[in-house]
Amino acid sequence: MFLKDRTALVTGSTSGIGLAYARALAAEGANVVINGFGETDAIEKERAGIEADFKVKARYSAANMMKPDEIAAMIAEAEKEFGAIDILVNNAGIQHVAPVDEFPIEKWDQIIAINLTSAFHTTRAALPKMKAKGWGRIINTASAHAFVASPFKSAYVSAKHGIAGFTKTVALEVATHGITVNAIAPGYVWTPLVEKQIPDTMKARGLTKEQVINDVLLLAQPTKEFVTVEQVAALAVFLCTDAAKSITGTTLPMDGGWTAA
Ligand code: NAD
Repeated sequence: MFLKDRTALVTGSTSGIGLAYARALAAEGANVVINGFGETDAIEKERAGIEADFKVKARYSAANMMKPDEIAAMIAEAEKEFGAIDILVNNAGIQHVAPVDEFPIEKWDQIIAINLTSAFHTTRAALPKMKAKGWGRIINTASAHAFVASPFKSAYVSAKHGIAGFTKTVALEVATHGITVNAIAPGYVWTPLVEKQIPDTMKARGLTKEQVINDVLLLAQPTKEFVTVEQVAALAVFLCTDAAKSITGTTLPMDGGWTAA
């Protein structure tokens, strides 16, 4: 329970990796603010489940990560209740798969806004209180696509390369404040985000579902296994420990060897 009396805010945590981060941080005693879209009842079940399972406070913010004013309000509300956000996890993300010359302009703008720019807005708003406490952890979900590209994912690859640069920059700016800033770069993790891109990839490449899973998604992953959300969340928990206080400015791969190739 080394995170007792800490507060973690995880964007995009109604599902997938974000929900796993929120539950793993709560399991160590942190109060959590979850965020994201979904059915009201399902979100409330997850929120109440965190409180019941881990005896912490769990709040939900419906802030849209495409809207700077909603992001500012989410951070202000969390700080009002908890004093400061000690652990900020920028995780919200979407994907769209299409050739660049057919890439819908609004999809490009959405991906850059949610996967990259929202981290700027949350970070700039949360940093002053973190600095005042002299302790903080900022953890950004990057991707193997922060290091390498795949065709038809121009916006996503651009946003993920961008988040790696943002991570380094902020880490340097706050290095003497007891705040570390890192990104985790998973390979393919089995979540709704991955499941949803299978039909588009089938269309873009003319493949069956099985071919997309084995010949596209897991082709690059030498372990031939999906990363699990629990593994990703465990690395985030480690980054919050004192043992990890000298790890800053990094983008840490957890990709079954993908980017070693
Ligand atoms: P997911 O679809 O399960 O979860 C995405 C979350 O973001 C959901 O909670 C969703 O409601 C939320 N979200 C989407 N748009 C939002 C918006 N405008 N405002 C607020 N919340 C919004 O996906 P996931 O696989 O868990 O992805 C989480 C992160 O992990 C993303 O940044 C993604 O790029 C990254 N990632 C995923 C994989 C993978 O294989 N699944 C690999 C590498 C990186």
